Amino acid sequence: MASTLTERLSRLVKTVRGQARITESNVQDMLREVRMALLEADVALPVVRDFIQRVKDKALGQEVVGSLNPGQVLVSIVHKELAATMGEGVADLNLAAQPPAIILMAGLQGAGKTTTTAKLAKHLIEKRKKKVLTVSADVYRPAAIEQLKTVTAQAGAEWFASTPDQKPRDIALAALDWAKRHYFDVLLVDTAGRLAIDEALMAEIRDLHATLRPVETLFVVDAMQGQDAINTARAFKEALPLTGIVLTKLDGDARGGAALSVRQVTGAPIKFAGVSEKIDGLEVFDADRHAGRVLG
Ligand code: GDP
Repeated sequence: MASTLTERLSRLVKTVRGQARITESNVQDMLREVRMALLEADVALPVVRDFIQRVKDKALGQEVVGSLNPGQVLVSIVHKELAATMGEGVADLNLAAQPPAIILMAGLQGAGKTTTTAKLAKHLIEKRKKKVLTVSADVYRPAAIEQLKTVTAQAGAEWFASTPDQKPRDIALAALDWAKRHYFDVLLVDTAGRLAIDEALMAEIRDLHATLRPVETLFVVDAMQGQDAINTARAFKEALPLTGIVLTKLDGDARGGAALSVRQVTGAPIKFAGVSEKIDGLEVFDADRHAGRVLG
């Protein structure tokens, strides 16, 4: 088992104890350990570099407060900076639109889009007292449409039928028309994913976005995707104006450094975390707690 960042830093601390300030060379040694810890937590390298520079600027010349040792001071600076970076932005869903408020779900296949769609439906029904309709525009996998039907029922929301011979845009427009005529507050649109980024997929979701003009476009990303999450995030960010991120599978082993990478690359706030396969396994993202997890 790898030692925690605090343990690693305290090994370096012996050399600096007794000093009133953390010197530049102490900071360099410690930042090397912080860098390792972030890379082990799967934060992408360019994001780590940027982050380390910010921490360095804050740490240099920082007073060693009271009985705390310099290692603890640095861990606290790193923790605060991590939490601030990941926690910026509005956490809950924006529904400020002429009803129905449309929420478009984007992400790779397997990221957890369909599951998250149903979790959000449940969240909107229970926490915000909304009447919610879901629809699947995934015309490539009939099983995905069926899966959305099943989980929507578990959420207590309504599901709009679609079939693989329809065009995604026609499905979306039909669902929107139905939602308007039946006074739904929210329409959640689940979309097709691929195993890897591809241009046809991006063109299709861009077209859906242009057609629906959703108030929220959520990027769903698997925390277990690790270092690769940055490339996926970059591709979706280039295709769509993302308004939020849902980080799934945080109940797994991943330290969740992907949160920092994805936040930095997209500029969008991390709104929710998926914490189980079950319909109630969704939490509002807690940046402070997540910073502790990333640091280990
Ligand atoms: P999609 O292809 O993006 O629609 O992904 P799915 O919603 O089908 O999810 C893929 C797999 O991940 C399914 O087996 C889900 O049960 C699982 N899954 C989704 N979210 C979570 C989560 O937060 N935690 C865990 N443990 N599993 C999840």
